[in-house]
Amino acid sequence: MLKSEDDSRGVVSLARDRKAKIVFIYNTDPKEFEEMVGQIKRYQSFRNLSVKKPEGNSQNSGVFFITSEVVAKIFNLSSEKLSKAANEDPKKGALKKLKPATVVYKTSIDIKVVKSDNVLGYLEGTDKKDELVIVTAHYDHIGKLMEGQGDLINNGADDDGSGTVSVLQIAKAFAQAKKDGKGPRRSMLFMTVTGEEKGLLGSDYYTQHPVFPLDKTVVDLNIDMVGRRDPQHKDSAPYVYVIGSDKLSTELHQLSEWANKTYTNLIFDYTYNDQNHPDRLYYRSDHWNFAKNNIPIIFYFDGIHEDYHMPSDEVEKIEFDLLATRAKCVFYTAWEIVNREQRIMPDKK
Ligand SMILES: [Zn+2]
Repeated sequence: MLKSEDDSRGVVSLARDRKAKIVFIYNTDPKEFEEMVGQIKRYQSFRNLSVKKPEGNSQNSGVFFITSEVVAKIFNLSSEKLSKAANEDPKKGALKKLKPATVVYKTSIDIKVVKSDNVLGYLEGTDKKDELVIVTAHYDHIGKLMEGQGDLINNGADDDGSGTVSVLQIAKAFAQAKKDGKGPRRSMLFMTVTGEEKGLLGSDYYTQHPVFPLDKTVVDLNIDMVGRRDPQHKDSAPYVYVIGSDKLSTELHQLSEWANKTYTNLIFDYTYNDQNHPDRLYYRSDHWNFAKNNIPIIFYFDGIHEDYHMPSDEVEKIEFDLLATRAKCVFYTAWEIVNREQRIMPDKK
């Protein structure tokens, strides 16, 4: 799953809303400044991939981290005095007394093309084969840690090894059913996507270049982290967080509840289903690119645990029985969606 956005960006977007063209951020403590720059460098290295080729100035955010000396040069005022003026009652207009300064800067963009693939497995339906149901999970993870000691490899067993093996097992079960003469009525696409951790890139690419018309795409069931427990469910009966099922289609939500009660009986935890939840999970995995296109989705998730995005997200810590039950829950839900008479429809067209 994609890491949530950094809080410090809030200040920048506030400045943008007020039509700031350039934002300068400074810190008068040289040590803190160094740390801040280090963090930003690491942060940027995670954010520099995009599906579209960057154009013109689009990659330059106009945000600069500057030292106290540079502050003094630009504003002709020491950074201490500038901070003092900024902290004064705005009615006194201390900031308005600053002399305007012109800042000219030049940037260049270095573009490298990185190739990666989504992996698509198609299973043709029978009498309703023109409609498609998609099951997704991302197969990328966050790579190696750049610094530190000991184990630096982020295996991503839960994030999202658990989802990719679920997709494969569900695909296998549907393929077997088809061999036995019980193939799905609607067509199915089992898709493991790339670049999720870099900004949902694989699913973004797919929804911009779909192999099947999006208006014939009925539902996306997205599985991202389903092999573990979070601290809130340490001793709980088998559970899963269900996110997004009721957002676009009441029918889908009812079907999802019914399939679980009938076949798997997991506790459905809807804590993260709230779009205003500070963790914003509804926007943080590949289903979002489908939801954006008004395609009903369900996102299955086990919660934020202590090994999230750490080298310690290891296969030994996966609870396989729990993983299997959650994968079965997705399977039965998919089974109902592909085989029912009426297509699941979004509430609003
Ligand atoms: Zn992740």
